Amino acid sequence: MATRLVAGRRRAEWTTTHDGRGVVTPPVWRASTVLFDSVAELRAAGRDANAGLYYGRRGTPTQWSLAESLTELEPGAAGTMLYPSGVAAVTTALLAVLKPGDELLLVDSAYDPTRAFARSVLEPMGITTRFYDPLVGAGIADLIGPKTRAIFLESPGSLTFEVQDVPAIVAVARAHGLVTLLDNTWATPLLFPAIARGVDLTILACTKYIVGHSDAMLGSVTAGPAHWETLRRTTHALGHCVSPDDAFLASRGLRTLALRLKAHGEAALTVARWLATRPEVARVLHPALPDCSGHDIFTRDFAGASGLFAFVLAGGDDAARTALIDGLAHFGIGYSWGGYESLALPVDPAAIRTATRWQTEGPLVRLHIGLEDVDDLIADLARGLDRFAEARGGMGKTSSEA
Ligand SMILES: *Cc1c(COP(=O)(O)O)cnc(C)c1O
Repeated sequence: MATRLVAGRRRAEWTTTHDGRGVVTPPVWRASTVLFDSVAELRAAGRDANAGLYYGRRGTPTQWSLAESLTELEPGAAGTMLYPSGVAAVTTALLAVLKPGDELLLVDSAYDPTRAFARSVLEPMGITTRFYDPLVGAGIADLIGPKTRAIFLESPGSLTFEVQDVPAIVAVARAHGLVTLLDNTWATPLLFPAIARGVDLTILACTKYIVGHSDAMLGSVTAGPAHWETLRRTTHALGHCVSPDDAFLASRGLRTLALRLKAHGEAALTVARWLATRPEVARVLHPALPDCSGHDIFTRDFAGASGLFAFVLAGGDDAARTALIDGLAHFGIGYSWGGYESLALPVDPAAIRTATRWQTEGPLVRLHIGLEDVDDLIADLARGLDRFAEARGGMGKTSSEA
């Protein structure tokens, strides 16, 4: 994988000039209009979607090299389409496989905007959604009805980190002729090669670890052979295209992905294990730790962990949690994750759930562990837990719902 990330898509025709010399990195090609030598050539290019430069919306070598390299990371994949955000990737993948009258099975721990899209766009189109327990495994078979067309997975789940039994669900889907889609943003293909595991369409919010520097929005969908043409058609029909500058930033991020993921993963596990020893912490929701639902499946299926997890405070209320987060020196407060910097966020999944109940001993904090010195992060969190304990004060370890 590390070798592929370095060697990937530095094709000679994208890096070499007419004198035969080449640069290391494919440069940024910006384009709307593409010029042809003749009317005949213009017409010929229009007949073949793979014929190279045609019009800016179809991309330039800058976007193609990124898409190609993402495909290379997924053994068995047929191709990758790029999107202006992770949400656009999720919604386009769903529109590519669903039609009016279909039913979608959507995991209850999915990223909230994915749920919102099912309600606000799919439902008015006559596509119904049924939410399912992330721990359902092969039991998904009991939820399949005559209209079920697709199963959407996200593993580990957003905010709560339940690990799904992807192979079991994929096997049931195959037996029933259903399409599977996986939001693989947390693991990336480096930690979970989704297409090789039988998933039909795998989705990345490249905004997170692929770009890796919190400075561009981008999404991708990589498809197996059965769904690639449909995905491409739908994407072109919806007019999606991405900025070559953003694609360049993602390609640059990809070069160091293996190193960064390893560093994020190791530091996050160190912080998670330390948090688990603290009396102010009731539970740590990190897939590599036994308190996380689906931990056994994680150990079986994943090549490692990335840098995002959450922990449940022992009692306290939102004000006590805020005292912890507000005073942190090395953790930013903000959405997204996957950049080189650490982030802390108050999260409240209970109100989002519909198929399962989410109940905890106290409020929840989500952390993204960046590339800072891990001792600095732990010292910062130790001071934060002191502030939390003081703010919790006489309340003691009360039981409250997050
Ligand atoms: C952030 C995120 C998305 C959406 O990505 P954007 O680029 O922010 O639109 C989708 N899925 C998951 C799991 C995410 O964390």
